[in-house]
Amino acid sequence: MKRIQWHDYFMAQSHLLALRSTCTRLSVGATITKDNRIIAGGYNGSVSGEVHCIDEGCLMEDGHCIRTIHAEMNALLQCAKQGVSTENATIYVTHFPCLNCTKSIIQAGIKTIYYAEDYHNHDYAIKLLNRAGVHYEKISFNPQHIAEYLLKA
Ligand SMILES: [Zn+2]
Ligand SMILES: [Zn+2]
Repeated sequence: MKRIQWHDYFMAQSHLLALRSTCTRLSVGATITKDNRIIAGGYNGSVSGEVHCIDEGCLMEDGHCIRTIHAEMNALLQCAKQGVSTENATIYVTHFPCLNCTKSIIQAGIKTIYYAEDYHNHDYAIKLLNRAGVHYEKISFNPQHIAEYLLKA
């Protein structure tokens, strides 16, 4: 029996979380890990208790939906809420983080970002990551590959 590799396992988790997204513009999922253990997860969605974009449509301002909290932020805030340290942690995201999330990820002490898809990769975000010494790497994610594991089990 072949064991699933950690990269596939955590990236699959982020893709599962993305399926819970409530914003129709982009489904993003993020998983924060430490020593190969999941410490938090998030997807892009509204503030708890607020209406969802999937029900009411997006709340657009200057070309952005202002209703949602991004997946990476939701994962970081889950750690904040529960008092879990993100220092030297790793984050697996379905898409390259936006500039604001990149800044928060760096500031939270996360040292490694694995992402599956490029998404408007911001020049300044890349500059900040390089300067902060945060390792960022695109890793391939193939749902078919994951499905094969599940179907064989
Ligand atoms: Zn929206
Ligand atoms: Zn973001």
